[in-house]
Amino acid sequence: MNVYDSDRMQDLMTATGYEVIDTAQGADMVIINTCHIREKASEKLFSDLGRLRPFKEEKNLKGENMIIAVAGCVAQAEGEEIFRRAKIVDIIVGPESYQTLPDLVGKVKREKSRQINLDFVPDNKFDNLVANDKGVSSSSFVTVQEGCDKFCSFCVVPYTRGAEYSRPVFDILNEVNKIAAKGAVEIYLLGQNVNAYHGLNSDGKNSSLADLITQIAKIDKVKRIRYTTSHPKDMSDDLIKAHGKIDKLMPFLHLPIQSGSNNVLKAMNRKHTRQDYFNIIKKLRESCPEIGLSSDFIVGFPGESNQDFADTMDLVEKIGFTQCYSFKYSPRPGTPASDNINQIDEKIKNERLSKLQSLLTKQQIEFNKKFEGQIIPVLFEKEAPKSKNSAKNGQRQILGKSPALQSVVAEIADDKMPESYFGKILEVKIIKSRPSSLIGEIVTL
Ligand code: SAM
Ligand code: SF4
Repeated sequence: MNVYDSDRMQDLMTATGYEVIDTAQGADMVIINTCHIREKASEKLFSDLGRLRPFKEEKNLKGENMIIAVAGCVAQAEGEEIFRRAKIVDIIVGPESYQTLPDLVGKVKREKSRQINLDFVPDNKFDNLVANDKGVSSSSFVTVQEGCDKFCSFCVVPYTRGAEYSRPVFDILNEVNKIAAKGAVEIYLLGQNVNAYHGLNSDGKNSSLADLITQIAKIDKVKRIRYTTSHPKDMSDDLIKAHGKIDKLMPFLHLPIQSGSNNVLKAMNRKHTRQDYFNIIKKLRESCPEIGLSSDFIVGFPGESNQDFADTMDLVEKIGFTQCYSFKYSPRPGTPASDNINQIDEKIKNERLSKLQSLLTKQQIEFNKKFEGQIIPVLFEKEAPKSKNSAKNGQRQILGKSPALQSVVAEIADDKMPESYFGKILEVKIIKSRPSSLIGEIVTL
C-alpha cells in the first residue's frame, strides 16, 4: 500500500511540474514515505533525514531550497515531534491526507512556514488524487479499502490509518478501466482488510469483495486479479466460491493467521481460532484445489509458551504454505500488547523465528519443485536486474509471475528486446526450481 501511496504522491507532484529523479542530491523536493508497523521505523526516518541534511545545506548555499516532506504512518504517529527533532523537515503529512501535498508545498513556498496535515478523510483523499498520465506497469495496484476496526493488540494500523473505509465501486471500476487502457493486465486490489470491502454500488447497495471482483473480471483488458491483505474473520463463502468460479482470479491467497495457538490468538484479539482457519482452508481447497497459500506469523508474542509455539509449527505442518512472512513480535507504543509484562526474551524470539522460517522455507522449496516439467502461464513484467549487466554477452533474462505468485525467470532470444515481452502472458516450461523462483523456457510467443 505504501508503494501505491508513493506512486500517487508522485502523480500529484508531477501534475504540478515536478519530475522524478533518482537521487536526493540536488532535488527541489524529497518525500520520505514511512512505515510504522515494526520497531526502528522512526529511528530509520531520523537517520535518513540526517543523510539529507548536507544536500539541503548544499542547495541553501546556492540560494535554492530543498523541501523535505515526511509522509506515511510514522508521520501520523509522531506528528509535531518530527518538526521538533528535525529542523530540516518542512512538511508532515499523514497517509489519509497526502492529497493535500501540492497545497502544502505551495504554502511552504509562499509563506515560508512549516506545514502539517494529519486529517483522516479518505473519501476526500481518493476524490482528489490525480490521474496517472505516465505508463502503468503490467501488474498494477489499486487501493479499494483502507483502515481497520479490528484492533489486534499488537498492531498500530487502526491508529495510523484510521477506521475502515471502502471506496465506491464506480470509482474503482473507473480507475481500473483507465489503467487497463494504459497497459495494466493484472490488477492487485489492496486494503489493510481487503476482504472486509463493502463499497457502495450504483444501485445504492453495498458490494462485497467477491461482487467487486466479478465486475472487474468483466473488463476485457484485465486478465488477472489478485487481492491482499485478507483477514480470516472476513473470508466469506462468496469470496471462497469466487476462487472456483472466476478464472481471472488467481489461485493464490495471502491469509495471515499470526499464530497457531488459540491462547495467543485470543491475547492478540484476532477474533478467530485455529479451527476457524482450518475450516476456511478446507473450503478454499474444495473451491480451488490448486490454490497457493501464504500467511503472516508473529513469534514471541507476550506470554507465548513453548506449547503455543509448538501449536504454530503444527499448524504450518498441517496446512502447507507456499510462501510466508514471519516476524519477531515488536512492541509498538500505544498498543495494548506493548504494556504486557510477559514480554519474551529476544534470544527465544530469535530461536523460534529461525525454526519457523526453516519449516516455511522447506515447504516453499517443496511447492516450487512440483512445478518442474510443467507448462504454466506467466505474466512478464520486467527485465531481470542481473540480465541488464550481462546484456552485452547476449544473455538477457526477463521476470514474470506464475498464477501462484512465484517469480519466474526466462531467457530470451538475442534478437528480441525485453520490452516486447512485458504485459504478455506466455506459456513457460519450468526447467528448474529454486527456493524463491522458477526458471523456465518460453514455449509460446
Ligand atoms: N490486516 C492484516 C491482518 O490482519 O493480518 C495485516 C496487516 S499488517 C499491516 C502486516 C503484518 O505485520 C501483520 O500480519 C503482522 O504479522 C505484522 N505485524 C503487525 N504488527 C506487528 C508487531 N507489532 N510486531 C511484529 N509484527 C507485526
Ligand atoms: Fe492490524 Fe490487520 Fe489486526 Fe487490523 S486486522 S489491527 S491491520 S493486524
